[in-house]
Amino acid sequence: MEKEKFEERYSRQILFRAIGAEGQRKLAAGRVAIVGCGATGSALASLLGRAGVGTLRIIDRDYVEASNLQRQSLFEESDAVESLPKAVAAARKIASFNSEIVVEARVEDLVPANIVLLEGMDVILDGTDNFETRYLINDYAVRNSVPWIYAAAVGSYGATLNVVPGKTACLACIFPDTPHGMVETCETSGILNTAVNLVASVAATEAVKLLVGGTGQLRKTLWSYDVWTNEQAEISATKPRSGCRACGERDFVHLAGEGRPHITLCGRNSVQIHERGRPIDFAEMQRRLEAHGAVRHNEFVLKFWREPYEMTLFPDGRAIIKGTTDTGVARSLYARFVGS
Ligand SMILES: [Zn+2]
Repeated sequence: MEKEKFEERYSRQILFRAIGAEGQRKLAAGRVAIVGCGATGSALASLLGRAGVGTLRIIDRDYVEASNLQRQSLFEESDAVESLPKAVAAARKIASFNSEIVVEARVEDLVPANIVLLEGMDVILDGTDNFETRYLINDYAVRNSVPWIYAAAVGSYGATLNVVPGKTACLACIFPDTPHGMVETCETSGILNTAVNLVASVAATEAVKLLVGGTGQLRKTLWSYDVWTNEQAEISATKPRSGCRACGERDFVHLAGEGRPHITLCGRNSVQIHERGRPIDFAEMQRRLEAHGAVRHNEFVLKFWREPYEMTLFPDGRAIIKGTTDTGVARSLYARFVGS
Protein backbone atom coordinates (compact mmCIF):
# COMPACT_ATOMS: atom_id res chain seq x y z
CA MET A 1 0.00 0.00 0.00
CA GLU A 2 1.28 3.47 -0.72
CA LYS A 3 2.68 5.28 2.27
CA GLU A 4 0.01 7.98 2.53
CA LYS A 5 -2.88 5.57 2.40
CA PHE A 6 -1.15 3.29 4.87
CA GLU A 7 -0.55 6.09 7.35
CA GLU A 8 -4.12 7.34 6.93
CA ARG A 9 -5.62 3.91 7.47
CA TYR A 10 -3.68 3.31 10.68
CA SER A 11 -3.47 6.95 11.78
CA ARG A 12 -5.18 6.44 15.16
CA GLN A 13 -2.79 3.66 16.01
CA ILE A 14 0.26 5.54 14.74
CA LEU A 15 -0.74 8.43 17.00
CA PHE A 16 -0.41 6.08 19.94
CA ARG A 17 3.17 6.83 20.87
CA ALA A 18 4.35 3.35 21.82
CA ILE A 19 3.46 2.19 18.29
CA GLY A 20 4.08 5.18 16.00
CA ALA A 21 4.87 4.92 12.28
CA GLU A 22 7.82 2.66 12.98
CA GLY A 23 5.74 0.24 15.06
CA GLN A 24 3.02 0.21 12.43
CA ARG A 25 5.55 -0.86 9.80
CA LYS A 26 6.72 -3.62 12.12
CA LEU A 27 3.12 -4.79 12.50
CA ALA A 28 2.78 -4.87 8.70
CA ALA A 29 5.87 -7.09 8.54
CA GLY A 30 4.60 -9.26 11.43
CA ARG A 31 3.58 -12.90 11.05
CA VAL A 32 1.20 -14.36 13.59
CA ALA A 33 -0.25 -17.86 13.83
CA ILE A 34 -3.62 -18.25 15.50
CA VAL A 35 -4.25 -21.84 16.49
CA GLY A 36 -7.98 -22.46 16.76
CA CYS A 37 -10.51 -20.02 15.42
CA GLY A 38 -13.48 -20.37 17.71
CA ALA A 39 -14.48 -17.58 20.05
CA THR A 40 -11.04 -16.51 21.29
CA GLY A 41 -9.38 -17.09 17.92
CA SER A 42 -12.06 -15.02 16.15
CA ALA A 43 -11.57 -12.11 18.49
CA LEU A 44 -7.77 -12.32 18.23
CA ALA A 45 -7.86 -12.49 14.43
CA SER A 46 -10.34 -9.66 14.18
CA LEU A 47 -8.34 -7.34 16.44
CA LEU A 48 -4.97 -8.11 14.89
CA GLY A 49 -6.34 -8.02 11.34
CA ARG A 50 -7.77 -4.55 11.92
CA ALA A 51 -4.57 -3.47 13.67
CA GLY A 52 -2.68 -4.28 10.46
CA VAL A 53 -0.62 -7.37 11.31
CA GLY A 54 0.69 -8.27 7.85
CA THR A 55 0.24 -12.03 7.89
CA LEU A 56 -2.23 -14.08 9.90
CA ARG A 57 -2.10 -17.84 9.61
CA ILE A 58 -5.37 -19.23 10.94
CA ILE A 59 -5.33 -22.93 11.75
CA ASP A 60 -8.65 -24.54 12.62
CA ARG A 61 -10.08 -28.04 12.27
CA ASP A 62 -13.76 -27.25 12.59
CA TYR A 63 -16.67 -25.82 10.58
CA VAL A 64 -19.16 -23.08 11.52
CA GLU A 65 -22.42 -24.03 13.25
CA ALA A 66 -25.33 -21.89 14.44
CA SER A 67 -24.39 -22.41 18.10
CA ASN A 68 -21.06 -20.65 17.42
CA LEU A 69 -22.61 -17.33 16.46
CA GLN A 70 -23.26 -16.13 20.03
CA ARG A 71 -19.55 -15.59 20.60
CA GLN A 72 -17.47 -16.34 17.50
CA SER A 73 -17.43 -12.84 16.13
CA LEU A 74 -16.01 -13.47 12.66
CA PHE A 75 -18.88 -15.69 11.50
CA GLU A 76 -22.29 -15.10 10.00
CA GLU A 77 -25.48 -17.14 9.68
CA SER A 78 -24.68 -17.90 6.04
CA ASP A 79 -21.36 -19.49 7.09
CA ALA A 80 -23.27 -21.89 9.35
CA VAL A 81 -25.80 -22.72 6.61
CA GLU A 82 -22.89 -23.51 4.26
CA SER A 83 -20.91 -25.40 6.97
CA LEU A 84 -17.87 -23.40 5.96
CA PRO A 85 -14.63 -24.34 7.69
CA LYS A 86 -13.92 -21.70 10.32
CA ALA A 87 -10.48 -20.87 8.90
CA VAL A 88 -11.99 -20.21 5.47
CA ALA A 89 -14.93 -18.19 6.83
CA ALA A 90 -12.52 -16.17 8.99
CA ALA A 91 -10.26 -15.39 6.04
CA ARG A 92 -13.24 -14.21 3.96
CA LYS A 93 -14.53 -12.00 6.73
CA ILE A 94 -11.13 -10.43 7.44
CA ALA A 95 -10.66 -9.73 3.71
CA SER A 96 -13.89 -7.72 3.83
CA PHE A 97 -12.47 -5.28 6.39
CA ASN A 98 -8.76 -5.46 5.62
CA SER A 99 -7.86 -6.62 2.13
CA GLU A 100 -4.29 -5.32 2.52
CA ILE A 101 -3.10 -8.10 4.78
CA VAL A 102 -2.48 -11.77 4.03
CA VAL A 103 -4.66 -14.34 5.76
CA GLU A 104 -3.65 -17.96 5.31
CA ALA A 105 -6.50 -20.33 6.08
CA ARG A 106 -5.40 -23.80 7.11
CA VAL A 107 -8.22 -26.30 7.67
CA GLU A 108 -6.25 -28.68 9.83
CA ASP A 109 -6.07 -30.06 13.31
CA LEU A 110 -2.66 -29.04 14.67
CA VAL A 111 -0.84 -32.26 15.63
CA PRO A 112 2.86 -33.23 15.82
CA ALA A 113 2.79 -34.51 12.22
CA ASN A 114 1.87 -31.09 10.80
CA ILE A 115 3.72 -28.89 13.31
CA VAL A 116 5.44 -27.18 10.33
CA LEU A 117 2.25 -25.10 10.20
CA LEU A 118 3.85 -23.01 12.96
CA GLU A 119 7.09 -22.35 11.06
CA GLY A 120 8.11 -18.84 10.14
CA MET A 121 5.87 -17.13 12.66
CA ASP A 122 6.92 -14.27 14.97
CA VAL A 123 4.24 -15.00 17.57
CA ILE A 124 1.87 -17.92 18.12
CA LEU A 125 -1.52 -17.27 19.68
CA ASP A 126 -3.74 -19.73 21.47
CA GLY A 127 -7.31 -19.87 20.25
CA THR A 128 -7.66 -23.54 21.19
CA ASP A 129 -9.98 -25.05 23.74
CA ASN A 130 -7.79 -27.87 24.98
CA PHE A 131 -4.57 -28.46 26.86
CA GLU A 132 -3.32 -31.19 24.56
CA THR A 133 -2.86 -28.65 21.75
CA ARG A 134 -1.55 -26.00 24.16
CA TYR A 135 1.17 -28.32 25.44
CA LEU A 136 2.05 -29.09 21.82
CA ILE A 137 2.34 -25.36 21.02
CA ASN A 138 4.37 -24.87 24.21
CA ASP A 139 6.81 -27.64 23.26
CA TYR A 140 7.25 -26.20 19.78
CA ALA A 141 7.63 -22.62 21.01
CA VAL A 142 10.17 -23.54 23.70
CA ARG A 143 12.18 -25.75 21.34
CA ASN A 144 12.25 -23.08 18.62
CA SER A 145 12.39 -20.00 20.90
CA VAL A 146 9.22 -18.42 19.52
CA PRO A 147 7.03 -16.40 21.88
CA TRP A 148 3.47 -17.59 22.31
CA ILE A 149 0.48 -16.45 24.30
CA TYR A 150 -1.84 -18.77 26.19
CA ALA A 151 -5.44 -17.62 26.33
CA ALA A 152 -8.47 -19.40 27.75
CA ALA A 153 -12.05 -18.50 28.51
CA VAL A 154 -14.64 -20.64 30.27
CA GLY A 155 -17.94 -19.46 31.72
CA SER A 156 -17.38 -15.88 32.86
CA TYR A 157 -13.68 -16.39 33.44
CA GLY A 158 -10.68 -15.69 31.23
CA ALA A 159 -6.94 -16.30 31.72
CA THR A 160 -3.85 -15.48 29.72
CA LEU A 161 -0.08 -15.91 29.96
CA ASN A 162 2.81 -14.69 27.81
CA VAL A 163 5.48 -17.29 27.22
CA VAL A 164 8.81 -15.86 26.06
CA PRO A 165 11.16 -18.84 25.93
CA GLY A 166 14.44 -18.28 27.76
CA LYS A 167 12.97 -15.37 29.70
CA THR A 168 9.64 -16.17 31.32
CA ALA A 169 8.03 -19.30 32.69
CA CYS A 170 6.45 -21.59 30.11
CA LEU A 171 3.03 -23.23 30.25
CA ALA A 172 4.50 -26.44 31.67
CA CYS A 173 6.30 -24.46 34.41
CA ILE A 174 2.93 -23.27 35.68
CA PHE A 175 0.75 -26.26 34.75
CA PRO A 176 2.93 -29.39 34.72
CA ASP A 177 -0.30 -31.30 34.08
CA THR A 178 -3.66 -30.31 32.67
CA PRO A 179 -5.21 -28.15 35.38
CA HIS A 180 -8.12 -29.61 37.25
CA GLY A 181 -11.51 -28.54 35.94
CA MET A 182 -10.29 -27.85 32.42
CA VAL A 183 -12.00 -30.54 30.39
CA GLU A 184 -10.36 -31.37 27.11
CA THR A 185 -13.08 -31.00 24.54
CA CYS A 186 -13.90 -29.00 21.42
CA GLU A 187 -16.65 -27.24 23.29
CA THR A 188 -17.28 -25.96 26.76
CA SER A 189 -20.58 -26.19 28.51
CA GLY A 190 -21.12 -22.46 28.80
CA ILE A 191 -19.33 -19.22 28.06
CA LEU A 192 -19.96 -15.49 28.04
CA ASN A 193 -18.83 -13.70 24.90
CA THR A 194 -17.63 -10.83 27.10
CA ALA A 195 -15.15 -13.08 28.92
CA VAL A 196 -13.82 -14.18 25.53
CA ASN A 197 -13.41 -10.66 24.21
CA LEU A 198 -11.74 -9.48 27.40
CA VAL A 199 -9.09 -12.16 27.37
CA ALA A 200 -8.59 -11.82 23.61
CA SER A 201 -8.10 -8.06 23.98
CA VAL A 202 -5.44 -8.53 26.61
CA ALA A 203 -3.66 -11.27 24.65
CA ALA A 204 -3.82 -9.34 21.34
CA THR A 205 -2.29 -6.28 23.01
CA GLU A 206 0.58 -8.39 24.32
CA ALA A 207 1.09 -9.75 20.78
CA VAL A 208 1.27 -6.19 19.45
CA LYS A 209 3.89 -5.35 22.09
CA LEU A 210 5.95 -8.35 21.01
CA LEU A 211 5.70 -7.34 17.34
CA VAL A 212 6.59 -3.68 17.78
CA GLY A 213 9.36 -4.43 20.27
CA GLY A 214 7.61 -3.04 23.32
CA THR A 215 8.79 -5.99 25.33
CA GLY A 216 9.63 -3.90 28.40
CA GLN A 217 5.91 -3.55 28.99
CA LEU A 218 5.05 -7.23 28.58
CA ARG A 219 3.04 -8.67 31.45
CA LYS A 220 4.96 -11.34 33.35
CA THR A 221 2.10 -13.04 35.15
CA LEU A 222 -0.63 -15.56 34.53
CA TRP A 223 -3.51 -13.13 34.70
CA SER A 224 -7.13 -14.10 35.18
CA TYR A 225 -10.34 -12.19 35.54
CA ASP A 226 -13.96 -13.17 36.08
CA VAL A 227 -16.29 -10.70 34.39
CA TRP A 228 -19.25 -11.91 36.49
CA THR A 229 -17.79 -11.93 40.00
CA ASN A 230 -15.11 -9.31 39.23
CA GLU A 231 -12.50 -11.51 40.89
CA GLN A 232 -9.00 -11.03 39.58
CA ALA A 233 -5.86 -13.06 40.19
CA GLU A 234 -2.23 -12.98 39.11
CA ILE A 235 0.44 -15.62 39.47
CA SER A 236 4.04 -14.64 38.85
CA ALA A 237 5.58 -16.12 35.72
CA THR A 238 8.77 -14.08 35.71
CA LYS A 239 11.17 -17.01 35.82
CA PRO A 240 11.24 -20.56 34.45
CA ARG A 241 10.57 -23.20 37.14
CA SER A 242 13.67 -25.26 37.77
CA GLY A 243 13.17 -28.83 36.65
CA CYS A 244 10.41 -27.91 34.21
CA ARG A 245 9.94 -30.77 31.76
CA ALA A 246 9.72 -28.50 28.73
CA CYS A 247 11.94 -25.45 29.23
CA GLY A 248 14.23 -27.00 31.85
CA GLU A 249 14.83 -30.57 30.72
CA ARG A 250 13.86 -29.89 27.12
CA ASP A 251 11.89 -33.11 27.02
CA PHE A 252 9.31 -32.39 24.33
CA VAL A 253 6.95 -35.31 24.84
CA HIS A 254 4.00 -33.59 23.21
CA LEU A 255 5.99 -32.75 20.11
CA ALA A 256 7.12 -36.36 19.92
CA GLY A 257 3.43 -37.22 19.90
CA GLU A 258 3.94 -40.62 21.41
CA GLY A 259 0.79 -42.53 21.92
CA ARG A 260 -1.53 -39.99 20.38
CA PRO A 261 -4.85 -41.70 19.86
CA HIS A 262 -6.26 -42.01 16.35
CA ILE A 263 -9.77 -41.39 17.59
CA THR A 264 -10.69 -38.87 20.28
CA LEU A 265 -13.77 -37.46 21.93
CA CYS A 266 -14.45 -34.04 20.55
CA GLY A 267 -17.11 -31.96 22.23
CA ARG A 268 -20.13 -33.09 24.19
CA ASN A 269 -21.48 -35.53 21.68
CA SER A 270 -18.95 -36.13 18.95
CA VAL A 271 -15.86 -38.07 18.06
CA GLN A 272 -12.99 -37.08 15.79
CA ILE A 273 -11.18 -39.53 13.50
CA HIS A 274 -7.67 -38.16 13.04
CA GLU A 275 -6.75 -39.03 9.49
CA ARG A 276 -4.60 -36.98 7.16
CA GLY A 277 -3.49 -39.36 4.45
CA ARG A 278 -6.74 -40.41 2.79
CA PRO A 279 -7.56 -37.90 0.03
CA ILE A 280 -11.31 -37.88 -0.57
CA ASP A 281 -12.98 -37.08 -3.88
CA PHE A 282 -16.13 -35.39 -2.58
CA ALA A 283 -18.15 -35.82 -5.80
CA GLU A 284 -17.43 -39.50 -5.94
CA MET A 285 -18.04 -39.95 -2.22
CA GLN A 286 -21.36 -38.13 -2.52
CA ARG A 287 -22.50 -40.55 -5.26
CA ARG A 288 -21.46 -43.49 -3.12
CA LEU A 289 -23.22 -42.27 0.02
CA GLU A 290 -26.50 -41.13 -1.55
CA ALA A 291 -28.01 -44.57 -1.23
CA HIS A 292 -27.35 -44.60 2.51
CA GLY A 293 -28.56 -41.23 3.76
CA ALA A 294 -28.71 -37.53 3.07
CA VAL A 295 -25.45 -36.11 1.80
CA ARG A 296 -24.15 -32.81 0.49
CA HIS A 297 -20.79 -31.19 -0.02
CA ASN A 298 -19.07 -27.95 -0.92
CA GLU A 299 -15.43 -27.51 -1.82
CA PHE A 300 -14.34 -27.79 1.83
CA VAL A 301 -16.49 -30.35 3.64
CA LEU A 302 -18.85 -33.22 2.93
CA LYS A 303 -21.74 -33.85 5.30
CA PHE A 304 -23.51 -37.17 5.58
CA TRP A 305 -26.56 -37.77 7.73
CA ARG A 306 -27.47 -41.26 8.77
CA GLU A 307 -29.77 -41.22 11.78
CA PRO A 308 -28.84 -40.70 14.54
CA TYR A 309 -25.36 -39.72 13.31
CA GLU A 310 -23.96 -36.84 11.33
CA MET A 311 -20.55 -37.27 9.76
CA THR A 312 -18.49 -34.33 8.51
CA LEU A 313 -15.66 -35.36 6.24
CA PHE A 314 -12.66 -33.19 5.28
CA PRO A 315 -10.63 -33.53 2.05
CA ASP A 316 -7.70 -35.25 3.79
CA GLY A 317 -9.92 -37.97 5.25
CA ARG A 318 -10.36 -36.48 8.71
CA ALA A 319 -13.88 -36.83 10.09
CA ILE A 320 -16.00 -35.51 12.93
CA ILE A 321 -18.89 -37.79 13.84
CA LYS A 322 -21.72 -36.30 15.83
CA GLY A 323 -24.34 -38.17 17.74
CA THR A 324 -22.09 -40.46 19.73
CA THR A 325 -19.36 -40.49 22.34
CA ASP A 326 -18.56 -44.11 21.60
CA THR A 327 -15.29 -44.27 19.67
CA GLY A 328 -16.13 -47.83 18.57
CA VAL A 329 -19.39 -46.73 16.97
CA ALA A 330 -17.60 -43.85 15.24
CA ARG A 331 -14.83 -46.13 14.03
CA SER A 332 -17.24 -48.63 12.49
CA LEU A 333 -19.33 -45.91 10.85
CA TYR A 334 -16.18 -44.49 9.30
CA ALA A 335 -14.93 -47.90 8.23
CA ARG A 336 -18.24 -48.78 6.64
CA PHE A 337 -18.78 -45.59 4.66
CA VAL A 338 -15.33 -44.09 4.12
CA GLY A 339 -12.86 -46.91 4.47
CA SER A 340 -10.98 -48.80 7.12
ZN1 LIG B 1 8.86 -24.38 31.63
